[in-house]
Formats: sequence, C-alpha cells, structure tokens
Amino acid sequence: MAKLDPVTLSNKFGFSLFNGFPYLITTVAEAGYHFTLLPGGPPSMLYALALSQYIVNDLPQCLVLRHDCYWHWPDTAPGEGPPLGGTIVWGKLLPFRLFPITDDLASRYDRLARFDGNGGGNILVPDLTEGSRSATAEEIRRLAGKQQNGVPVGLARCLKCGQWKGECLGLIPNFADKVKPVHCLCSNRNFCASCGHPFHRYKLNANYYDEAAGQIRYVPGFMALQHRCPEQMESKLRPAEVLQ
Ligand SMILES: [Zn+2]
Ligand SMILES: [Zn+2]
Repeated sequence: MAKLDPVTLSNKFGFSLFNGFPYLITTVAEAGYHFTLLPGGPPSMLYALALSQYIVNDLPQCLVLRHDCYWHWPDTAPGEGPPLGGTIVWGKLLPFRLFPITDDLASRYDRLARFDGNGGGNILVPDLTEGSRSATAEEIRRLAGKQQNGVPVGLARCLKCGQWKGECLGLIPNFADKVKPVHCLCSNRNFCASCGHPFHRYKLNANYYDEAAGQIRYVPGFMALQHRCPEQMESKLRPAEVLQ
C-alpha cells in the first residue's frame, strides 16, 4: 500500500492524478493505462474486487482510492504510487460484474474523458525490450545457434501443448545479445473477467516461438483491449462503452 498525496505526486512528476476515485489502473503498454472506474464502497470490498480482477487478468494493476493505492504485481517496488501520465484508455477490460450506471459513475467517466492531466498521446507503445534481458557472456556461448531442427538453442517442445518454450537469444540483430523468455500455450493466464476466455492465444507481454515462420513473436499487453467476448455475452452493455 502507498499513501497518496496528489499534490506531491503532481509536483514531482508534472502530471496530475485523476481524482475520480475509486478506480483501477491496469498497465497494458509502456506508459499505457486502462482505467476502470469503480462504484463507491468500503475499501475491503474494493480491494477484494481489484484482487479478483487481477487474478483473472494477470496484468499489472493498481487500485487507487482517495488516500492510498494498492498494487497487484510482483515486481512493484514497496510504496510505489499510481502510474501518472501516459496514454489512458477505458471501457475495454471488462469487470466481473457490470456496475449500475449511477449519476456518480457517469459523471466520473465524463470527467475522465475530459481529463487532460495525463500529458500523453493516443498511441499505445509496446515494451520495446520485448521482455528480454542482456545476455551474459556464458549465455551467449551456451545459447548461440540453432538446433538440428532449426529451432533456436534453449527452446524445448512442451509435452503438454506441443509448443516451444524456454529461453533463447534474440533472432534479429537488435536482440542478438539479449535473452528472450519464450512461452508455450500453458503459460497463458491472461483471461477476460467477463467471459473467462483468454485475451489472446498466447501470454501477453511475452514471447512465443512461431514455428512455421521460424521467428519469435512478441504479444503486447494491449492485445487485451482487442478482445471481444463471445456473442452471447455481447448483450451485456458495459457502462464505460455506453459512455464513450
Ligand atoms: Zn505448454
Ligand atoms: Zn470476454
């Protein structure tokens, strides 16, 4: 948990904190954030709601209340405040249950639409590192080259799903000295909270090996925004979409 001081936060970074509390911020790109405005309620209820959403989405998430915030993401530094700036989107990641469109919620979504404190643009930029890290000299030696079947050294076929997984060196010059974690289908835990379907065939913010093309493909987190629930779920109108 981090105590919020909007004035200090704004002065420190030059950006404003949206004050339509309470809400969830889900990171879907490099400085790209999806906002879900929540109805008012006791913090314990809001926290439980946020945690449930996080467990299903498996994306970095921050619950922002009036005086404090709670991150759900293993790599978050203690005391980390909510994200500021960047590109803001909403109405795409659906919650478990639809919230009634109260005057309060409608008013806050309207303010979010006019919120100009982010200073960001309208473009969602993927993580340019593509989840890679610098390779050590030992890794460059050990992971160099291809296996007899043409698959990069370091990848092995998953016995469960049949796809490739492991760690290998990047296949294009920019990533030749980087180690890329590669995930099979079994690693995908990014699900839509509304319909329970995966956002994408492969894990978000991660790489998979495209065997047919012999390439490593990166799936950015904002692919979650392109998800559409199956047709039978489409009759459930979503407050945020209605308001946009
Ligand atoms: Zn697998
Ligand atoms: Zn869905």
